[in-house]
This record gives sequence, C-alpha cells and structure tokens, in this order.
Amino acid sequence: MLDVAAVGFDFDHTLGIDHRLERDVALEILGGHDEQRVNEALAAFRSGSQTIADAMEAIGVDVRRFRELVLERAPRYVEALPGARDIAATLQARGLTVAILSNGWSPLQELKAKLIGFPGPVLVSEVIGIRKPNVEAFRSLERVLGVPAARAAYVGDEPEIDVAGALWAGMKAVWFDWEGKTYPQHVVPPTLRISSLVELAQALPGPVSGAAKPTA
Ligand SMILES: [Mg+2]
Repeated sequence: MLDVAAVGFDFDHTLGIDHRLERDVALEILGGHDEQRVNEALAAFRSGSQTIADAMEAIGVDVRRFRELVLERAPRYVEALPGARDIAATLQARGLTVAILSNGWSPLQELKAKLIGFPGPVLVSEVIGIRKPNVEAFRSLERVLGVPAARAAYVGDEPEIDVAGALWAGMKAVWFDWEGKTYPQHVVPPTLRISSLVELAQALPGPVSGAAKPTA
C-alpha cells in the first residue's frame, strides 16, 4: 500500500497515447518528405535541447501552422490507456488530490488531458519553464497537489524522467510498465511497479469499489 494523499501523473504513455500526432502533422506540412528529419527534430524537442518552435523552424515547418493543425487533429489521435478515463476521478472520490505534470508544449498537453476527461490541474513544462526530471518541476507539482512531497506519489512510464525525478523530489515513484520494458539497472528503482492502472487504484488508500476489490 502506498500511504499517500495525492497522486501526480505523467501523460504520454501513462494516461494516454497520441499515435504520433506531431510527427504526422509535421510530415504533412512538409509534403510527406523528410520523415527522419522530423523524427530528429521531435527527439530534440522531447529531450529538452530545443523548444518546439526551434525544432520545427530547424526543419522548415511553420510552427504556428504546426501548433494549429496539431490541436485540430488531436481529438482524432489521442487515445486514453485502459482505465485512464476513470483513475483520477476514482482517486478524487477517495479524497486524494490529482494533477498531471507533463513535459511538452501548451496547450497541447492540456488538451490531451481534457480529451481523456482528466479532472485535475495540468502542469506543462512549456508553461512552468522547467522540465522533468528537474526537481523544480516536481516542486511545482507538489505545490499544486497541496501535500508535502513525501505524501505524494508520481506515476510515469519513463524511469530516468519520471521515477528518478519523483524520487529526487522526495515523492514516491510508481513505474507504469504497461509496455513490458526492462527497468534500466543504472536508474534508482521505483517505489512500486505496476502494469495496469487498476493495480494503481488497488495500491492506493481508500475503498476499492465493486468487483475490482483486490485479493492481496
Ligand atoms: Mg511518458
């Protein structure tokens, strides 16, 4: 059992997936060419070495057009992972506070959260000016959750970014291993490893309703 009063979530590959929305839009703007350059530009953005504007500009994609099209297409691309539409409301009903802390640009990440019905605040790196795994990103999350870090858990799929960052900040870290990956040996191990969001609900305080009642 994780004795916490609040839960922060990563978004991408934790609550939802976007089926390479940004890649498709950038490629479309470029007329279908240069997939490798698009992938490299998005990788540079995701690693934090470039803003989305700089990354797109570097491959000749008008960032304003890119942002518009991505937001327009998002409803068709964003898919909630199993249980993701309910988990936050379930936890709120038990008295836990919830929020998302996500590396990405705004308002795309907020829109993704809205598209899966996430009921809590959404902190986006482009807005708060700091990215995971920097401890200050988790401090922002701590403030939004309204509990001391030690009373919060953070759930994410990336060991180096989500698990290590949360642990550095003094939170509990839940590694969501729904893709069957091997946990890297060089990264500090998570407080808890889950392979479904149902397991998360079972590991957190409060009653578990109906037939989903845990046996262990
Ligand atoms: Mg993720």
